[in-house]
Amino acid sequence: MNTKKGKIFVVAAPSGAGKTTIVKNILSNLPELALSISATTRKKREHEINGVDYHFISEEEFLKKIEENGFVEWEKFYDYYYGTPKGFIEEKTKSGISVLLEIDVKGALNIKLIYPDAILIYISPPSFEVLVERLKNRKTEDENDLKKRIERAKMELSLKDKFDYLVVNKDLNTAVSEVKTIIKRIISKEK
Ligand code: 5GP
Repeated sequence: MNTKKGKIFVVAAPSGAGKTTIVKNILSNLPELALSISATTRKKREHEINGVDYHFISEEEFLKKIEENGFVEWEKFYDYYYGTPKGFIEEKTKSGISVLLEIDVKGALNIKLIYPDAILIYISPPSFEVLVERLKNRKTEDENDLKKRIERAKMELSLKDKFDYLVVNKDLNTAVSEVKTIIKRIISKEK
């Protein structure tokens, strides 16, 4: 029986640094990793699928889940709630499966407080200006949301030194390969 616990990898970045694309690539390359799907009260974007990208739930359901202690961590930003469900991480890591979390920078630091062995990987944009350009170009936010995301990105960039690994997303393939190498090295050490 596999008695080794699975590892917790957290990939975090300011909004617009390209982490969703990186995470998708990582998962298709490392099928042994299980992705933790967060719950959110934000509206579903057109291309997103409930239960795949997020569990899209109402504010009422979210608050109930907080009360029931159902999240490892949760945050409210841009007027919406985001939370990491507790059950999934506990079940997977107990049975020796490593999990990957794609959450915001503060959430990642909170995970480290709860699970000190978690490995935090920070995806940084090449520069603040590039980040702003990317956010504007993807056109998924209205003017108000965009402003809030830019403000938050400044704060999130200032926290990067608290992470275990820093990967600069200048070129997507290089960034994916760097994250993959970090994760593979740690998983293979555990075996
Ligand atoms: P978006 O609305 O663009 O999908 O996500 C906004 C931010 O919330 C992103 O930085 C995303 O990684 C983060 N996020 C997603 N799920 C969670 C979560 O469960 N907890 C925390 N703290 N942040 C999350």
